[in-house]
Amino acid sequence: MHDIAVIRGDGIGPEITEATQRVLEAAGAAIRWHDAPGGEDGRARAGHELPSRSLSTIRRLGVALKAPLIAGRCTGGVVVEHDGAARRYPSVNNALRRELGLFVNIRPVRGWPSVSGRHAAMDLVIMREITEDTYIGIERQVSEDCAEAIKRITRPATERVTRFACEYALRHGRRRIAAIHKANVLHLTDGLFLRVARDTAAGYTGLQFSETAIDAACYLLAKDPGAFDVMILPNQYGDIVSDLAAGLAGSLGLAPGANLGNGVAMFEAAHGAATDIAGQGIANPLGLLLSGAMLLDHIGEAAAARRVRAAVDRVLSEPDRLTPDLGGSASTVELTQTLCTAVQND
Ligand code: NAD
Repeated sequence: MHDIAVIRGDGIGPEITEATQRVLEAAGAAIRWHDAPGGEDGRARAGHELPSRSLSTIRRLGVALKAPLIAGRCTGGVVVEHDGAARRYPSVNNALRRELGLFVNIRPVRGWPSVSGRHAAMDLVIMREITEDTYIGIERQVSEDCAEAIKRITRPATERVTRFACEYALRHGRRRIAAIHKANVLHLTDGLFLRVARDTAAGYTGLQFSETAIDAACYLLAKDPGAFDVMILPNQYGDIVSDLAAGLAGSLGLAPGANLGNGVAMFEAAHGAATDIAGQGIANPLGLLLSGAMLLDHIGEAAAARRVRAAVDRVLSEPDRLTPDLGGSASTVELTQTLCTAVQND
């Protein structure tokens, strides 16, 4: 029996979490779920967007499945009180990752023949650094008409994410690593990121390292599905490129993700709370479900993970069984039932 924390999330969160839990269990994984409220749900049920008790639960169990959380716009961020200190973060998601010491967000994005058009052959892994860059949330109002943000890049964080990406590539039979930057404008910050990524990657044999400016990388992603294999990006570019790649694959609802740190792993889809379709029963659960498959691999349930991925492959070849974001007319519950049947008959 595996003990896993679960953040059911906001917007479409509860719908896709329930779908994911049902399919993971139908695939044969014995999981005891431990509720860890967060976001608006955390505020309603535990009096805070990121209750200290949720952080303790996730730290104690070491593994969490997380649905998206709503982050308010222009609110000044959130203050988290935990371990006897109060810390301010720009958003609840940022707070969660940093409080748990998570340093890399892995987002594998691939295409499928039935839903990805000319990007069917796309198969890349985005490695997003998640502790620094402009998302440290240090901003300043200079005057009524002027505001500034600090962009912080450090050698240790860049080295850590590059090492992780290189080792991941070697373990998974991937050979090409691309560092994405804007060092021709941000000479010091992205310049440091690029130099450290280049020097760190040079320590690994069997990998091909390249450097691409962020604007050219977006163009290449759109133009040539095979342009990238493993991409290493600072926090903000990684955030944006993840959504772009997911859109090219067919839907934001298809892209899974894992946030890893030392001793804690948190699995979440690339997309947000999709408040525009929340409660309508049409949310696509596949991004969170594929994150769940990554979770199963992480906890040593490789056979169940394989069954989940095979079921997703199968269902994606039957367009009428898919949710509206993928051109189908199925509800979340109907798609979930199809997936449960598929994993059970595997
Ligand atoms: P979003 O990713 O929630 O939605 C963007 C578009 O994609 C919407 O049209 C939405 O309907 C669609 N979409 C996203 N996921 C889908 C799915 N699974 N199935 C079908 N369609 C899907 O981005 P947004 O609208 O900018 O953000 C909404 C809220 O989510 C905001 O509060 C934002 O801060 C938050 N957010 C949270 C996370 C996270 O928890 N990691 C990430 C991004 C955004």
